[in-house]
Amino acid sequence: MRRKETIAWLLGWGAGLAAMLVLVVSSPQRAQAQFGGLSKVLNKAQQVHEATKPLTLEEEQGVGRDVAAKLVANYHIYKNEALNRYVNMVGETVAAQSERQDISYHFAVLDTDEIDAFSAPGGYIFITRGALKLCDDESELAGVLAHEVGHVAAKHVVHVIEHDKMLRAGEQEASSHMNTGKLNDYFNKLAGAALVKIVDQGLAPADEYDADARGVKYAYEAGYSADGLERFLTKLDQATQQGGKSFWTRTHPPVPQRNARIQELIASQKWQDAGRPKLQERFEAATKMLRTKAGA
Ligand SMILES: [Zn+2]
Repeated sequence: MRRKETIAWLLGWGAGLAAMLVLVVSSPQRAQAQFGGLSKVLNKAQQVHEATKPLTLEEEQGVGRDVAAKLVANYHIYKNEALNRYVNMVGETVAAQSERQDISYHFAVLDTDEIDAFSAPGGYIFITRGALKLCDDESELAGVLAHEVGHVAAKHVVHVIEHDKMLRAGEQEASSHMNTGKLNDYFNKLAGAALVKIVDQGLAPADEYDADARGVKYAYEAGYSADGLERFLTKLDQATQQGGKSFWTRTHPPVPQRNARIQELIASQKWQDAGRPKLQERFEAATKMLRTKAGA
C-alpha cells in the first residue's frame, strides 16, 4: 500500500487499539468520584497501573481482529474458496510446529498484486495474490506463512504495544496536572502512534530475524525443505528491483542479510536435505487460477 494509505490504515488500527485502551483505563469505580481530590489521585494511580499491565489474550485477539478487518477492508479477500482453504492447510501445517498453541491461526489470501504477507496479533495471517504468484512451490509458501506465524508466536507486535504503554504510563506518573479525560486521550493517541510506527517503519530488525529463524524451523519441522523462505526472498528482491511493490522489502532488513542468516541457521542445524519435499505439483494445481487471466 502507498505510504499515505498505510498511515491512514494504521490510524484506523490505532483507533481500534484506542477503543480497547479506553476499556482498560476506564474501569475504576464511578463511586470514587464523590470523594473529590483523593479519589482523583487514586483513580489516576489505578489507571497508570492498568496501562502497564500486559495485554490479556482477549485484548490481543481484539487488536488482531481489528487489524485483520482493516486489512480486509483495504485489500479485500481473494474470492476463491479452494485457494483460501489450501493456504489455510499449508499455514496450519507450519503453525502446528509453533511454540504458541493458545490461539488458533487463521490464514487468508488478499486480492492485490503487491508482494506481501502480514500478521496481526492473535493469529490472523494474510498473504497477497502477488506473493502467491511469486512462489514456485509449496515449501516457499510454507516459508512465508511460517515467518508470519513466528511474529505471532513471539508476540512481537504485542510487546511493542506493551512497551509503549509502559513508557507513557511512566511519564504520566511524574505529571499530576492532567485530568482523567485528558489522560485517556493521551494514552489512546500514543498507543496509536506506536502502531503507526510499527507498520510504517516495521518492527525492529532483531524481531524480523527472529521471525525468519522461527519460520525456517517450523517449515522444516513440518516436513518441508528448509530453504523455502530463502528461495522466495531471493525472488522478492529481484521483483522489487524491477518495480514490484512490496511492504515487506521496505520494512524488513535487506534480503542478502536475511538470507545469510537463514543459510547459517540451516547449516548449523544440519537442515540441508535435498530429498525434502517442495511439493511443486500440488502447489501448481492449487494455484493455477492465479495464472489464468480471470484469476489475476
Ligand atoms: Zn516480518
